Amino acid sequence: MGMFDRVWVDCPKCGVPIEFQTKGGPCRSKEYRVHDLSQRGREGIDVLSGVNGHEVCRCGTMVEVVAHVHIDTVRVYRPDLQVNEDDG
Ligand SMILES: [Zn+2]
Repeated sequence: MGMFDRVWVDCPKCGVPIEFQTKGGPCRSKEYRVHDLSQRGREGIDVLSGVNGHEVCRCGTMVEVVAHVHIDTVRVYRPDLQVNEDDG
């Protein structure tokens, strides 16, 4: 049996925690709460990207985790356009 980590998501209807399995994290039976993942940077993105589709809560609600990745800054380098800074 393969190893995985768990992400706990509160059902948006009844509030009961629902287990999602993920193979995107360290896969050492680590447990996460879904709302903490946004504070975990790269690890959070990896964990979420490995979450398996949807789960159905005991109350019958289908629950899916949708993550939005926010990028602060993108820098583009063009080494061929380097300016010579000659302060002569
Ligand atoms: Zn529920």
